[in-house]
Amino acid sequence: MITERLKIVKEKILKACIKSGRDYSEIKLIAVSKNFGLDDIQTAFNLGIKDFGENKAQELDYKSEKFGNEIFWHFIGNLQRNKVRFVTKSAEYIHSVDSLLLVSEINKYAVKNNKIQKVLLQVKTSEEDTKSGIVDESEVKDIAYYCKEFKNIELIGLMTIASFTEDRKAIQNSFSTLRKLKNKLNFEGFDLKELSMGMTSDFEIAIEEGATMLRLGSAIFGERDYSKNWKEKL
Ligand SMILES: *Cc1c(COP(=O)(O)O)cnc(C)c1O
Repeated sequence: MITERLKIVKEKILKACIKSGRDYSEIKLIAVSKNFGLDDIQTAFNLGIKDFGENKAQELDYKSEKFGNEIFWHFIGNLQRNKVRFVTKSAEYIHSVDSLLLVSEINKYAVKNNKIQKVLLQVKTSEEDTKSGIVDESEVKDIAYYCKEFKNIELIGLMTIASFTEDRKAIQNSFSTLRKLKNKLNFEGFDLKELSMGMTSDFEIAIEEGATMLRLGSAIFGERDYSKNWKEKL
């Protein structure tokens, strides 16, 4: 099943790339394995996927210990300060940085682990109350400048979650807001490369709007079953 889904997803990505005149190789596919077990991760890995996304510190910690360092882990969930310690241990990328305090905490553990932590700032680009991320553009800038003060933090881009809506325009608007913000920051002298945007329901729009990292869960692994927690599936 994962084999077929992955094939279909890759074809859709390629199609969207062609439509918008983009190169397939510019786009990193992150398989969001939250709530799925180790077997599914292994299956996707055997099919050539090297990047996996998790949104809970404990789940990431557990799963990453079961695999060697040939997997690149992406932390994409809401990050609490007291979990930074676990996340910096295994995550190659943290997509969900949204405060100054988080930046300094991440740096502290990056120093301890002797690593350069790649981070993205999560920006709120939709009206929905439930979506987390930085709201004000000026705050995004403040946090971006703050990142420069830390040797063990590498700010590589911006991340957003669009609204869950049928309204294509609203989704487009979210993604183009993020792209423009990245351009503004780069105009001020930053060197941000990545736009982490696009999930199962909206990744084709995200590609058209310039996404470089897609976070795809159900498109690869199938529907998530929330009646069981991840530990029961291992
Ligand atoms: C769960 C999740 C995804 C993947 O969602 P799908 O709709 O299954 O593709 C992407 N990004 C974040 C932040 C998530 O929490």
